Amino acid sequence: MSQPNPLVEIGFRIPFDQIRAEHVEPAIDELLADARARMEALASAGGPRTFDNTMRALDRMTDRLDFAMSVVRHLEGVATTPELRAAYNAVQPRVSAFYSSIPLHAGLWKAIKAYGETEQARALAGPRRRFLEKTIETFRRHGADLDAAGKKRLEEIDLELATRTMKFSENVLDSTNAFELVITDPGQLAGLPETARAAARQRAEEKGQPGWRFTLQAPSYVPLMTYLDDAGIRERVYRAYYARAASGEHDNRGLVRRILELRREKTLLLGCDDFADFVLWDRMAKSGERAARFLDDLHARTDDAFQRENRELAAFRRATEGADAPPLKPWDVARYSEKLRQALYDFDAEALRPYFPLPRVIEGLFAICSRVFGIRVIETPGVPAWDAAVRCFEIRDASTADLLGAFYADFHPRENKRGGAWMDSLITGGPGPGGHEPHLGLICGNLTPPVGNRPALLTHDEVETVFHEFGHLLHHCLSRAELRGQSGVNVAWDFVELPSQIMENWCWEREALDLVASHYQTGEPLPEDLVAKMKRARTFRAANGQMRQLGLATADLALHRQYAPTTDGDPVTYTRNIIQNFSPTPLDSDHSMIAGFTHLFSDPVAYAAGYYSYKWAEVLDADAFTRFKTEGIFSEKVGWEFRDQVLARGDSVDPAELFRQFMGRDPDPQALLVRYGLIPEQAS
Ligand SMILES: [Zn+2]
Repeated sequence: MSQPNPLVEIGFRIPFDQIRAEHVEPAIDELLADARARMEALASAGGPRTFDNTMRALDRMTDRLDFAMSVVRHLEGVATTPELRAAYNAVQPRVSAFYSSIPLHAGLWKAIKAYGETEQARALAGPRRRFLEKTIETFRRHGADLDAAGKKRLEEIDLELATRTMKFSENVLDSTNAFELVITDPGQLAGLPETARAAARQRAEEKGQPGWRFTLQAPSYVPLMTYLDDAGIRERVYRAYYARAASGEHDNRGLVRRILELRREKTLLLGCDDFADFVLWDRMAKSGERAARFLDDLHARTDDAFQRENRELAAFRRATEGADAPPLKPWDVARYSEKLRQALYDFDAEALRPYFPLPRVIEGLFAICSRVFGIRVIETPGVPAWDAAVRCFEIRDASTADLLGAFYADFHPRENKRGGAWMDSLITGGPGPGGHEPHLGLICGNLTPPVGNRPALLTHDEVETVFHEFGHLLHHCLSRAELRGQSGVNVAWDFVELPSQIMENWCWEREALDLVASHYQTGEPLPEDLVAKMKRARTFRAANGQMRQLGLATADLALHRQYAPTTDGDPVTYTRNIIQNFSPTPLDSDHSMIAGFTHLFSDPVAYAAGYYSYKWAEVLDADAFTRFKTEGIFSEKVGWEFRDQVLARGDSVDPAELFRQFMGRDPDPQALLVRYGLIPEQAS
């Protein structure tokens, strides 16, 4: 044998500079075999069942495999090569087949149930009791209790769901790509900014076409709908966008029906009669009914501001185009909103960039976290990583100097790196001989890069992104949970964005901005008038933004709770009738939004019955931040409580309980409504 395979052994210092594509398959196969062997050993262990030999063994059963896969998945995302992608694609199906086989392993299920019946298990309390109960429920919900015929049917349903949902997303992609609009008359481009024209010209050149080419992809669609003067073209593109995958060879309507039927059948097979309840049992909302009430309540509280915004926009059109200007059509809304925004605010987000050089932003972020959460973040140079641009940091407790965690930061785009911003965990620490072992994670972004000697100058949005991902990272690195499965970000989907989104709040507070913003040439703080404009722009037509999200979330829950394929007819019409109640203008009969709604139908579960989570998490973070607002945005006391009662706990306690411990009550949407200017501040 030559060199040892660096993916096989877990170590805190990951030898990123030594991992190559050819290590992937042998390492993953070896670790799959290891995990299988541990599963068999767990299932057939002799002697009395204990928490250690059953539950803890289960919690650790796949740790080596999880770690190696997280490294491979990560490298495929940030330093991909054709060889690495091929290796990843080769192992991925084997690994996911193994994970889905775990709850169906009869011996393992028997072992867990046997432990559940012991005296020791009955006496369990706190996190360990929660872990046992959730494990048993999770196994049941994955079919552990089904007889052979039931398991076979479950497998068929899962397989059909996988193929149907994949076909759904292919149809969306294909029908999106099937549309193009080539404009050759420059007069028709009136209103469109130079950057959007240049992009359209480039898209045409790539196809060897004259003129300007427009598509239904967001970078083309959004500027066209926002800026183009020509209403006829806007109408055509809008109609094409909302008719995607609703007819012809890429028609998704039958698939939507079938996917909903399969989800319902699966729910019934597993002993539950409501798909939303089935999905939400371990989320903070707990039931479809509760999620629906949450949406209805926000809808009612947003409606006044929504109607007011719509009247304002109609009045603005009449004021600029005359009293007989026609009512706004759906394809007019973005265009006139932008005109109104310019008329009211004259705010260019780009003007903020010189005040947000990345080094200062990071320094400010660390300073804020140091004051609020009692930690120190220190850069550790010379750590091998996947690219020379990657930096490595340690997080230590400010009072004990204990190492809590370490992380890599990879901030800027590269050709071999995927888009977006994200946090990921690599190693999850737990109690060890020398105290709680440190965690290891990473944050990645595609932020504006530095140019020449000038530092990277960020937009305010990008600053929020850095804070957001760092919040996820703190959730991972400050975890004190005993069990891996309950550590850090392994929490309910409608709770996981609380630690990240709450961090964004500091990006809107003057005193915090003074730590984060400083002109990269003059060192001056952010001018007060820019801060005021930035805040005003935040509330502009916020009720419309919120209504849109509420409409999609309401339609999602209705489809998964009430819709009956046999009596409710075409799902497109059914959904349109719901969304209409949240739309600023009447929708035409060709509006077929649901046929292209990949969030709900491009994966066996995806966001199905979970779209409400976006708003839910916003309510949590706005509400939780009110404690900082009232007791001080740098309050050590509130910061410690958040660290101790939320960040440190992971999923070891029910998230609703964690929230109650921190706030002393259940979540209240008031703070979110104030944030968006939907109700006046003094009313809160
Ligand atoms: Zn997030």
